[in-house]
Amino acid sequence: MICTTVREGDDCVFMKTKGCSYLGGACLPIIDECNGCSRTSDYETGAYCTAAPDPSLKWKNGNCNIATHIKAAEAAKKQKINPIKASKRR
Ligand code: SF4
Repeated sequence: MICTTVREGDDCVFMKTKGCSYLGGACLPIIDECNGCSRTSDYETGAYCTAAPDPSLKWKNGNCNIATHIKAAEAAKKQKINPIKASKRR
């Protein structure tokens, strides 16, 4: 349904006929770590994530798994090779 709270006009799965069903009745604004992510969007009510209703939860246990601005860093991290395993492969 179309949001009528903080992200007014956006289609949202949490919006129900009785209002927003998310905890607290509305999305929470982005946090500092979200700056640079293309999933952020500015509304009259502030900046919100278009994919997660509470961005702080997405960063609670490390990097947000759907962030668009940390992919390069993630890829570099995955390419790191364990030197012990690498020596065994030779
Ligand atoms: S996708 Fe993750 S990093 Fe991007 S705005 Fe949403 S919560 Fe923040």
